[in-house]
Amino acid sequence: MELLKNRIRTDGLVLNDSLLKVDSFLNHQLDPQLMFKMGEEFARRFSGEAITRILTIEASGIAVAIMAGLVMQVPVVFARKKKSAVTTDDLYCTKVYSFTKKESNDIIVDKKFLAANDRVLIIDDFLANGEAALGLANIVQQAGAAVVGIGIVIEKSFQPGAGKLKAAGFRVESLARIAAFSGGQVQFVPEA
Ligand code: 5GP
Repeated sequence: MELLKNRIRTDGLVLNDSLLKVDSFLNHQLDPQLMFKMGEEFARRFSGEAITRILTIEASGIAVAIMAGLVMQVPVVFARKKKSAVTTDDLYCTKVYSFTKKESNDIIVDKKFLAANDRVLIIDDFLANGEAALGLANIVQQAGAAVVGIGIVIEKSFQPGAGKLKAAGFRVESLARIAAFSGGQVQFVPEA
């Protein structure tokens, strides 16, 4: 998505060879127009998939997920991060290792917000090693629901996440795909 790639070029800050900071439009301050356009783009890419619910993870996935939910007219659920979730019969729970915080967290979703007949689109802000997306997919599977696809705002294609998700059989749609950070610059994967 050219609009997003241009924004990354102008406002993204390459912190090191694996980490990008985009806190002026995605991770701290939010650009609502850009979020809305990304929501429209996810809706376009997954049109015809009869999605019934969107699942994301707090906090940075929520903004774009809610815009996609607005366009697609489906509810948006976000998994909550709990250090030590008491697993009860009412919650789906799984462990996710955080790429940025370097720690494991339990993530939880109340059972009443996912049903076995749901067709779920998973959305997240970044894809690195795929831990967050795989954790969300695990929760959808616990509910007996279907993962229709995984929508990612920024995929770092040089890290293993995208390959892992595709190998597991998931459709991955990323709005910007980064091939490398070199010399403080973002190199995008050329689009076909
Ligand atoms: P994964 O679970 O795929 O290893 O990592 C994805 C999660 O880590 C995202 O939800 C995001 O919060 C965080 N993350 C991974 N890489 C980056 C990055 O380069 N910049 C920022 N701001 N967050 C990242």
